[in-house]
Formats: sequence, structure tokens, C-alpha cells
Amino acid sequence: MNDHKFSSQHLAKPVLDNLSKLGYIQMTAVQEQSLPHVLQNKDVIAQAKTGSGKTAAFGIGLLNKLELKNYVVQSLVLCPTRELADQVTKELRRLARFTQNIKIITLCGGVAIGPQIRSLSHPAHVVVGTPGRILKHLDKGYLHIDELQTLVLDEADRMLDMGFVDEITKVIEFVPNKRQTLLFSATFTNEIRQLGATIQNNAVNITTTSTEPANLIKEYFYQCESEQQLKSLQNVIAHFQPKNAIVFANTKVEVKSIAKYLNQNGIEAAALHGDLEQYQRNDVLVKFSNQTVAVLVATDVAARGLDIKELSLVINYAIPFEQDIYTHRIGRTGRAGSKGVAATLFWGKQSHKAKVMKNENREFSFASDLDNVQEYFLKAPNGTIVIEAGKKNKLRPGDILGALTGAVGLQGKQIGKINIYDKQSYVAIERSLVNSAVKGLKQHGIKKKRFSVWIMK
Ligand code: ADP
Ligand code: MG
Repeated sequence: MNDHKFSSQHLAKPVLDNLSKLGYIQMTAVQEQSLPHVLQNKDVIAQAKTGSGKTAAFGIGLLNKLELKNYVVQSLVLCPTRELADQVTKELRRLARFTQNIKIITLCGGVAIGPQIRSLSHPAHVVVGTPGRILKHLDKGYLHIDELQTLVLDEADRMLDMGFVDEITKVIEFVPNKRQTLLFSATFTNEIRQLGATIQNNAVNITTTSTEPANLIKEYFYQCESEQQLKSLQNVIAHFQPKNAIVFANTKVEVKSIAKYLNQNGIEAAALHGDLEQYQRNDVLVKFSNQTVAVLVATDVAARGLDIKELSLVINYAIPFEQDIYTHRIGRTGRAGSKGVAATLFWGKQSHKAKVMKNENREFSFASDLDNVQEYFLKAPNGTIVIEAGKKNKLRPGDILGALTGAVGLQGKQIGKINIYDKQSYVAIERSLVNSAVKGLKQHGIKKKRFSVWIMK
């Protein structure tokens, strides 16, 4: 199967020799599918899992294209965090060992800018960094990318999660229109596709999980005793042990009582229904999407427009009034090729509806067959902090990330989604570090300014 080897690609001998020194003989799936296009200077949008060798898939391409005698920045790689940018730089340097003349520098937030400015006075071929800091260097005129040939967005989904979309757009304003744009992501959401559509040209679409059906959902139905619905719901959640879940109920009253019951029984849940003010609704959605609360209990109307990438479990507290509501609800799990689970409760009065729902793909059983849990706890991994400053204060995700990974001392991976609004910003942070993050931000401020900071209830 010579085809899967790097030697099947149009690469110079020293490049191939170096790859084999690194132990890279066979291409990984994403490399095999994307590298030929990358080498042909095409735009590529590729989805592949972590650890699948994405760095080399774009790295070999961009290094191969460099004109070494031309001391200008020819490639820019944007990454979500400093740690990832460091990893990419390291891998690029290994891949670049076929010659001694390639200069690669890293520009990330959370560290002093002075040494970066000095390093920019020596020309580099490749720049790797986080969007906020890159933009800063561009704005101030320390970094010039008007002769850029290749732009890479690595872990684009994570960059969007971290709220970097504005920075990315602004960075692109500095880039020549005639360029190659490579976008790599672990998931393909609508957001990612939209981003791709706006910044790429006839991009080749690659997904290495294409063998899996897009929406693989296991559907379970549990008949339960009336009066036992809440207990059965708790047992169902404990049975599947999901990372997160949405419980759909048909009425506001049900939503409220379900959320209350779950919270009293060790499962942290937030209620979403029509009685909430707009800002309360927004708070609930933010907390659920940034993994501060694990279970969302909602009516259909309230959950409209909700886009959660990795939803482990959808539960119908009862069979909905209409079939297409059922289909719509369960379609929220099992996205992007990952398996989803849908569980539906029904009781005596709904048996006739249950009959209509029966087909060979749906598994029917009794809730009483599930383990009756005594103690089961479900907590989301993060907490959310609120900063009393936002777009109006010209706050960018990179500023917040920089403050948290700089003076406050957190690592990029301990920080989750960042949502920036006009006057406030919400930041998800590993639960155990929330207090110290608040303390640190109060003490050190952001961009030399102090803002009120608190933990969201
Ligand atoms: P991703 O960005 O998809 O998460 P990386 O680019 O970080 O993955 O690569 C994961 C690991 O696989 C790295 O240690 C890298 O050195 C190694 N690797 C990449 N491509 C190959 C290959 N073709 N053969 C062997 N190892 C590889
Ligand atoms: Mg990577």
C-alpha cells in the first residue's frame, strides 16, 4: 500500500528523509486526504480528531512552499491557546529540520510583549500564535503579513468557543486576498462552516470520520408508573451517566418541578422556560453551553436556537404531542458523527402514543428495570465568572485569556468558553480554580485596568 506513504507525495528528498528520521513513514488518514490538496495550494477545510496528525498535514504543506531567501512572513498559524501554539511550533520545527534556514516564531498572549517585539525585528518565515496577540502586533505595526502565502486556523472550533471570531476576522483584514487558507477543526459545526465560507475559496472538504453516519442516535423508551416519573427520570440519568443532558418537558410547570427535584437529588440542573427574563435565559444558556451546569430542563420553545456541540443525552420527560417535535428534540444529540442517546419516558396514559412510536430501531422497556439509585451526583466541570466589562470596554477574548494565563497563573486548558457581550464577559473556568481566578483578576486586572469580577450563581 505504497499510496499511504509520504513518499507517494511530491516532496523533495531532504523533506522525505527528515520525515523518515522522525518515524513518519505512513500518512495518517487526515494527512493522506488533505496533504495532496494542501500541496496543490488549494484551500482545505478538514475535520479530524485530536491526535490524528493535523499539524503535519498543514505543516508539511506550508514549509514546502516557503521561499527561504525571501525574509518575510509567508505563513501564519492561528491557535486557540499558548500551549497549543507552543506544541504547533515545536512540531513545525521538527518538520523543518530538512534545512537550517527556516525561522519560526511564536507570538502568544499572557507573556510580556517586549521580547516579542524585539524578536520581530529579525525576519521570520513562519509565525504561530493566538489571535489576540497577533492582532495587537499587526495593529501596532510590529508584524507585517502583506506577503502572506498561507493562513492556517488550527483548532478552529476551539478558537470560536473561546470567542476569538472578531479577532480572526480582523487579522484576516491584514492578509492578502490571494492566499491559501487551511482550516482544521475537531468538529464541523455550522459556525465552522460559516467561517470557512467567508474566508476560503472553493475549499476542499475533508472529514476523516465520514465512514460514520452523521446522526447516530440510540433511542430508548421507558414505561414508568404514574407518580414515579421524577424518580424514573433520576434513574435514567444515573443509568446513562452523561456528561451533559437536556430534559424536555411539555409545560413550564413541569420544567420547574423537574429542575427542583433534580437539584434536590444531586443532579445540578437549570430550568429554561418562558417565564424567564431575556437576561436570565441568556445566563442559563451560557452556563449550559460552557459546562457550568450539566443538565438543562426546558420547554421546546425556550430551547429554540440552542446549539450545543457535544450533547450526550436528550431525555423526553414524556412523549411530546407531535412526532416532529420528537425528531427535532432528539436531533440535538449525536451531532458531528458522534453517537447520541435519546431516552423517552411515558406512563399509562400515554401507552397509545407509545404504540405509534414503536419501530425496530427503538428499544422499549420498563423504568422499573433500571437500577434504583440511592446516590448519584452529576456536576459540570466548570464555574462561570462574570467580568463587568465587555465589547464597549474594547475587551477581547485574548485580553482575558492573557490576564488569566499571565499574572493569574492559569493554564489555557483550564479555561473554557469565553462569551463577550457589550458590557459584560463570561468566562468558564475549571470549578476548583474559580475562586483563585476571581481573586487574581481583582488583584491584577486586565490590561492594567481593574473591573468588578464575580462568580455567577
Ligand atoms: P492533532 O493536531 O491532530 O491533534 P498532532 O499533529 O499533534 O495531532 O499529532 C499527534 C502526534 O502524532 C504527534 O506526536 C506527531 O508527532 C505524531 N504524528 C503525526 N503524523 C505522524 C505520522 N504520519 N506518523 C507517525 N507519527 C505522526
Ligand atoms: Mg493539533
